[in-house]
Amino acid sequence: MRKRIAIDMDETICDTMARHIDWYNLEFKQNLKKADLMGKKIYNHVPPEHLARVRSYPDNAEFFEDLEPLEGAIEGIKELNQRFDIYIATAAMEHPSSFSVKYEWLIKHLPFLSPMNFVFCGDKGVVNADYLIDDSARHFRFFSGQGVLFTAPHNVNEETEVRVNNWQEIKAYFVDKA
Ligand SMILES: [Mg+2]
Repeated sequence: MRKRIAIDMDETICDTMARHIDWYNLEFKQNLKKADLMGKKIYNHVPPEHLARVRSYPDNAEFFEDLEPLEGAIEGIKELNQRFDIYIATAAMEHPSSFSVKYEWLIKHLPFLSPMNFVFCGDKGVVNADYLIDDSARHFRFFSGQGVLFTAPHNVNEETEVRVNNWQEIKAYFVDKA
C-alpha cells in the first residue's frame, strides 16, 4: 500500500501571506513586506486600530481567489503523487466562506488529484496519513503521523522535529520515504 501524505493549502501550497500583505498595504497605504513578519503573524504586527480589518480579510471569499502557488509547489505535488497517495488537508472551518473558492482553486491547479482527496476540516488530528506537511505546527499535536513543518515567516523561530524550507527540500525529504 502506498504511504499517504496530507498537505496543507495556505502558506504551504498557496501564497496566502502575499494576499494578506497586498490587501493590508492597499487599504492602509502601507509598505509591509514578508521580511517584516519574521517570527510573527500579521495580526501581531499591525497596529491595534488596523487589527479588526486585517483579521476580517479571510472571511471574504475573494481573499482566497487566484492565490499564487508557492514556487515549486504544483510540480512537487505532481511528483510526489507518482509514489504516494496525496491528500490536501485545509483547516477551512476557520473561514467557512472560503469553501467553494478553495475547492475551485484545487480543481484548477491540481487537476491530476481526485477531489475525493480534498479534505476540508477543522483540527487536522482527524486526518489519517503518514505525513502532514503544514506551516502550522499546532496541527501536529493530535496528528498520528509525522509532522513536516513548512517554513513560513511566522514559524521561523519554532522548534520542530522536521522542517523543510521550500518545495525542493520537500522533494529531497521524501526521496527515500515511499
Ligand atoms: Mg497553512
